[in-house]
Amino acid sequence: MNSAVALVPAAGRGERLGYGMPKALVPVRGVPLLVHAVRGLLDAGRVRHVVVAAPPDDVDAVSALVGGLPVDVVPGGADRTASVGAALRHAVAAFPDVRIVLVHDAARAFTPPEVVGRVVDAVAAGSEAVVPVLPVTDTVKRVDADGVVLDTPDRAALRVVQTPQGFAVDTLVRAHGSGVSATDDAGLVEKLGVPVATVAGHPSAMKVTTPHDLAVAEKVLVEGL
Ligand code: C5P
Repeated sequence: MNSAVALVPAAGRGERLGYGMPKALVPVRGVPLLVHAVRGLLDAGRVRHVVVAAPPDDVDAVSALVGGLPVDVVPGGADRTASVGAALRHAVAAFPDVRIVLVHDAARAFTPPEVVGRVVDAVAAGSEAVVPVLPVTDTVKRVDADGVVLDTPDRAALRVVQTPQGFAVDTLVRAHGSGVSATDDAGLVEKLGVPVATVAGHPSAMKVTTPHDLAVAEKVLVEGL
């Protein structure tokens, strides 16, 4: 029943964290971000299998990290979209009966289980594409190439988008067959003209991108507030 397969693109080099290793492998309390992320997905009780796209040279090392868990590891592609595409092809071949696919950033390693549940529930209820979102609390400015402010979008109409993003499997396959790239999978689906629904995200689903984020993860997310 409403059990999903989750795809985790983790094939980036992660240079912004400055660890000299793929971001997904950076440890938080001794456990790689990717392993926190995979356990979080599985612990939510709504995901039966995870497919990780790893840097092609690290497939064996990543497989060893997730040994014993219901996880397959495939080589990633040249960019995020290609890595998700590789994981999606594997998932469709290995789980031909799957109806719901999630795409989750390894960097959002501390996403609470209720967010996973809300996304799966919304797809199961009929939405073809679902993203978890937060309201924007800062005022946001649009600027030109010189950093001069162009205008101030209405904050009430803006949302910060997190993962896991959830899709009806056929919709995501169609989006990835369209040959375009985007920074998130919902972006590909939007280009098909398919409505993308939103559910409530959570601050703990933040993306660990900078050393500051890593410090927050070490101090707050593992222990709780
Ligand atoms: O570098 P960026 O933050 O845009 O990467 C977003 C996500 O996409 C990361 O989880 C990264 O590991 C993944 N990625 C990937 N394959 C690539 C490049 C990035 O799976 N070739």
